[in-house]
Amino acid sequence: MTIEVRNINKSFGDTPVLRDVSTTVESGSLTALLGPSGGGKSTLLRVIAGLEQPDSGTVRISGVDATRMAPQRRNVGFVFQHYAAFKHMTVFNNVAFGLQVRKRGKQEVRRRVTELLELVHLEQMANRYPAQLSGGQRQRMALARALAVEPEVLLLDEPFGALDAQVRKELRAWLRRLHDEVHVTTVFVTHDQEEAIEIADSIVVLANGVVEQAGSPHDIYDNPANPFVMRFLGPVT
Ligand code: ADP
Ligand code: MG
Repeated sequence: MTIEVRNINKSFGDTPVLRDVSTTVESGSLTALLGPSGGGKSTLLRVIAGLEQPDSGTVRISGVDATRMAPQRRNVGFVFQHYAAFKHMTVFNNVAFGLQVRKRGKQEVRRRVTELLELVHLEQMANRYPAQLSGGQRQRMALARALAVEPEVLLLDEPFGALDAQVRKELRAWLRRLHDEVHVTTVFVTHDQEEAIEIADSIVVLANGVVEQAGSPHDIYDNPANPFVMRFLGPVT
C-alpha cells in the first residue's frame, strides 16, 4: 500500500520539527527513514501512524486521505525501540491479543498465532513470558504481534536500537528475509547508515525536519544530493 506524505509541517511549541516534508513510500517496499538523532524521524512515523496530528499537509494510505483518520482505522502495525509487552501474558497471548480484541474465533486465533510464531522463529517460546525472552526475541515477538492483524503498513521505530551490535546485525538480516516473505509496506526508522544501506529498497534521508534526499541505497550512496548527505553517508573509514 503506497504511503504518500505531502507538505507535512509540524511544530512543538515554536520549534518546527517537520518542515514541508513530502515523500512517497512505494507499496510493498522496505523503506528506511534515515537521519541523525533529533531530525524528526519518530515524529514523521507518528504522523503516518496517526499518533500525532500535523499542523498542515496530508497523509494518504493506498490512495485514501488518512490525515484526520484515527490510528485504529489506518490499518498500520507499529513497533517501538522499547517494546511494551504485556508482562503477565505468555508470548502466545501477547501475539493473540489484537486478534482477540477483534473477536476472531478461537480456532482462527490458534492457527494464525502458530503461523506467526513460526514466521519469527519463536514457536518454542509460545508458553514463556516476555521476561524470559532475550531482547532480540522480544522484538521478534513485537513484530509478530504487529503483523497479527494483517496491517497494510508496518512502521518500525528503531526496533533493534536497544540491542547489542551482534544481535542487531542478525535481526537486520532477518527483517530483510521476513519482508521478502510477507511483503507488507514497511517504514523502518534508523540512524544507522549501514543498516539502511544493507536492508532497505529505498532510503529517505531526514535531517532537521527536512527531506535531504530519497532514492535507492545505490543512488544515495553514489550520488549524494548535497554535502550533508555525502558526509552523513560517506564511506565509513
Ligand atoms: P528523531 O526520531 O529523528 O530522533 P524526533 O522526531 O523524536 O527525532 O524529534 C525531533 C525533535 O522534536 C526533537 O528536537 C525533539 O526534542 C522534538 N520533539 C519530539 N516530540 C516532542 C514532543 N512531544 N514535544 C516536544 N518536542 C518534541
Ligand atoms: Mg526517534
